[in-house]
Amino acid sequence: MVLFAGFDLGGTDIKAGVVNERGELLFYKYLPTPDNISDLLKSFKDLWDYFNKEFSKNIIAAGFGLPGIYNIEKKLIHQSPHLSYLDDYPIHETISEFINVPFFINNDANLAAWGEYKIGAGKNAESMVLLTIGTGVGSGIIMGGKLWQGKCGFAGELGHIIVNPEGEECECGGRGCLETEVCSTKIVDNYIKLKGRKEEFKKLTSKDVFERAKAGEKEALRAFSIAGYFLGLGLASIINFLNPEKIILGGGVMEAGDLLLKPALEEAKKRAYKKAIECCEIRKASLGNKAGIIGSALWAAENIKRVT
Ligand SMILES: [Zn+2]
Repeated sequence: MVLFAGFDLGGTDIKAGVVNERGELLFYKYLPTPDNISDLLKSFKDLWDYFNKEFSKNIIAAGFGLPGIYNIEKKLIHQSPHLSYLDDYPIHETISEFINVPFFINNDANLAAWGEYKIGAGKNAESMVLLTIGTGVGSGIIMGGKLWQGKCGFAGELGHIIVNPEGEECECGGRGCLETEVCSTKIVDNYIKLKGRKEEFKKLTSKDVFERAKAGEKEALRAFSIAGYFLGLGLASIINFLNPEKIILGGGVMEAGDLLLKPALEEAKKRAYKKAIECCEIRKASLGNKAGIIGSALWAAENIKRVT
């Protein structure tokens, strides 16, 4: 039995698990994301030691999906928007001190895309784009059956294509990025602005806005359709630029389904070349929040073939 370990580091949890060659998740475990690098490394080590023991050393490689701009040549994260302790830290070198099998690091959204491509909603697509819409917008691009990484590993940051030149400031340093206009906090902001009474909505989440929209409240519906409009602009750019076979949409905000998707598709159809959008299948992701674990593990499986 040949197995692979996958680690998916998010802002809230470390999701980690063990996957077989077919991508079936045999075991997984979540730990809270630590607020410092030494505790993070300890959590990675504890998880690895546990997996290694439980699976009798059948794990032959591991993958790590880390949030931020990962340099595949220098093997470090330059900038992690929510976990700044990773910035320029020699993460590959340090992990190599406790993991005794080949391991491979990449951007978390790239590896989630790899998971959806290998066994999820993007299976068998020659070209595919994953967008995960949550507190941010992560994305990954598969072209010709390969993860498109760019020269240094920074490709696929579609959350930072500009859809609103005068929009909100973004953590990337830009303004009006797809991420700032469609993320969960922006949907709450849209709603608060439309209601015009700030103090009552301090603890509101996008899920609350979703519930209100489902109940038919017009400001809540509008909050989603504004975000949907900007998502549509982003989709049109992606479609005109890449002509992908599939665009897969995942992440917590996609739970809103048609509230977001319908206005997005309406706008995308107005903006993209008709023939290009007609041959692009746009659908929901299928691996949920396990895409990162599975993708990281299968990324290790893919790369170990080249090493051995
Ligand atoms: Zn940005």
